[in-house]
Order: sequence, then structure tokens, then C-alpha cells
Amino acid sequence: MTAPRPPADGTLAAHAGLPPARPNEPPLPGPVFAAHYHLPGEPAGDYRYGRDANPTWTGLESALATLEAGHPEDRPAPDTGGATPAAGTVECVTFASGMAAVSAVLLSQVRAGDTVVLPTDCYYTVRQLVPRLEGHGARVRLAPTAGEGALRELRGARLVWLETPSNPGLDVCDIRRIADAAHAEGALVAVDNTLATPLGQRPLHLGADFSVASGTKALTGHGDLLLGYAAVRDPALAQELRHWRRTVGAVPGPMESWLAHRSLATLELRVGRQAENALAVATELTRHPEVTGVRHPGHPDDPGHPVAAWQMRRFGCVVSFTLPDRAHAEAFLDSLRLVHQATSFGGVRSTAERRARWGGDAVAAGFVRLSVGVEDPRDLVADVRQALDRARHLTGDEGR
Ligand SMILES: *Cc1c(COP(=O)(O)O)cnc(C)c1O
Repeated sequence: MTAPRPPADGTLAAHAGLPPARPNEPPLPGPVFAAHYHLPGEPAGDYRYGRDANPTWTGLESALATLEAGHPEDRPAPDTGGATPAAGTVECVTFASGMAAVSAVLLSQVRAGDTVVLPTDCYYTVRQLVPRLEGHGARVRLAPTAGEGALRELRGARLVWLETPSNPGLDVCDIRRIADAAHAEGALVAVDNTLATPLGQRPLHLGADFSVASGTKALTGHGDLLLGYAAVRDPALAQELRHWRRTVGAVPGPMESWLAHRSLATLELRVGRQAENALAVATELTRHPEVTGVRHPGHPDDPGHPVAAWQMRRFGCVVSFTLPDRAHAEAFLDSLRLVHQATSFGGVRSTAERRARWGGDAVAAGFVRLSVGVEDPRDLVADVRQALDRARHLTGDEGR
């Protein structure tokens, strides 16, 4: 008899973190709303106070740990002769938002005198932690995601932060290569996995010590909650994260945790469809001469594709590109019918925005970040095409 094949991602996502089937009980127990638990005598048991632990978090954390752990067979072959992925079970700690998870990792690990390497082009609010880290006496070195910029800044570092694909520029770096070099310098490596989700790439397979993400985006996908998590293999790191969460109080709500767990059942369907749709939209965009700099890691012509094709399993839902100027980009966004204007990404309904309206990112005035939802790809492509046509008429950029 052959050994049973481990469940594939869709099966994994649908069943992750559920309790054993018991007669007359629901498949996914409802949210537990508890500030405290009955606790007579000497404190004992897992659930004592609502800031320390909650059964609804436990279920979600077990699901996310399962997804981040995946199966050994899922690992890309270690091509560089690098260290094999560390053994150990994956533990996950959930937080109130992605930023609560990001700051838990950075601020619990980095002390005065430590050096941190951060991407120049990572999520804007993560970069806003730089003065705070420096205020606590840490040194921060910035390096671009493209070209494995972090490799040049590793000397003496305590922690290397990566974000790949980066948001919003969609550059890609080789996690395995940087993790091997960082570990040789004695540094820990954290990867912001928000854009990819664990079904897009598994940083812990690629040598990272932390896989950190916002659950607000593609992971939960419905645009109705904020959540974050960090997954690790080292139980001591998990312990530190839990201690940080308890002392800072950055706890997720039981309702959000439950909605998130419920959403995971469709994760593989959503991210699969969204990645296909994103490729269709990116391909359409490349056909229009007024559109430049189309980026999507799944597109064969994308500069990030060679590394993405090796380390990613699904390429995410974000497409970025540049229109000639602000007026042209605004005319395009106003002309979209299916794609709503909003920040954030990863939701089941497509959204887009002119990123420069926020400031803070090194992007052109006409730079658009489009998050592709689960709509029918023909409708989406048609909507993008008609909005491009209309924007061209409105701005008089006919000749381009
Ligand atoms: C949105 C985002 C975050 C922050 O997550 P919140 O849930 O909004 O706090 C962190 N990193 C990346 C890459 C993001 O896109």
C-alpha cells in the first residue's frame, strides 16, 4: 500500500483548526465572548482571563499554524545548498491587527544597540515604526526589496525584515537566499506574508524565523475585520509573542477571530481565483500603450517572476501600474464600474486606488494599485478596458 497523500491546500484550508467531529456539536464552534472564566482556588487551566487566552483564538491559531506549516512536500527544493528548513511544529499567535503583529515582532525582539534591516519599500506604516525603533536605541538600515538589497546590510544585524512581494511596488526577493545569509550573521528573519497568504508562499519553509501577516487583507478576504498574526517554529519565540500580546493588550476580538476562521474555508478558492484574475487583468493592461510599469509577480515578463515562480505557489491578487498622470489615473478610477475605489486589498470585490493620494510611498502621481477580487475575469477585464478607453477620452490623451 502506498502512503496516503497529504491533503492539498484546498482541503487543508477547509478543515484547518476544526475540533474533532462530535455528535450534536457544530463543525466550527461559535465565538466565545468572555472577559474572564470561572476560576476557583489556585489559578489552573488554559483559560483564566480574556486578555491571556480565548478558545476562539485557539481554534484560529491552530488553523493558521496548519496553513503556515503545510507539508514537507510543498517545500521548494533548496537550490542554493542552504540549510534545510528548521524542524519543529509551527505555533501561531494572533493579534488585533496586522500592525499589532508587526510591532509585536519588531518591538519584542529588538533592543537598544541592536541593528534591524528593513525594506525601503515595505508597507508604509511598518516604515513608520523606524523612528520609534531608533527612539528605543536601535539602529535601522534600509535596503530595497529588489535585487536582495538586504544582503548588503546584514553585518551585525539582529533582525532582518522582508516583505515579498512588497506592497505596493510588488518587487520580489529571494527569502531562502537572504535567510541563509542572515542566519550566518546570527540574525533572525521575519517575512511580512500579507500579500501572498500562506497558500501563496510559506516563509517558514524558506528559512524565515517569523511569518507575520495582516489578516485584514486576502487571508480573510471579505473586508469586514482587522486581524494580524505571527507564526514561528521556535517555542521560545512563540512564548515571547504571547507575553508581548498579554502585556501590551493587542488582543483580537472573539468575533473577528471567529469570522476569520470561518473565512479560511474558502481561502484556496479565493486566492486561486484572484491570482488567475490578476494575471488576466495584468495581461490586458500591458496591451494599452498609456499604461506603463505593469507589475504582477505571476506575469511571465515581470522582473520578479523568476524568483516568484520558484518560491511562490500562488501569486496574489494585486496588480500595480502607472497611468500618464494624476488626472488620467483619477479619470480611470472614476470610470470603473465593477472596481470600487478603496485602500487595502485582498477582498472578494475588486478595489483600486491612486496610491500617491496618501503620500509616503515612492510612486508616481499616476500609480494605481488594483486589488483583484473573485468576480468573473471577463467582466473584470471588460471593465478595466472600458475605463481605460473612457479615461483616454476624458483626458484627451488619445494620441498616446
Ligand atoms: C495592511 C498591511 C499591514 C498592516 O495590517 P493592518 O491589519 O492594517 O494593521 C502590514 N503589512 C502589509 C504588507 C499590509 O499590506
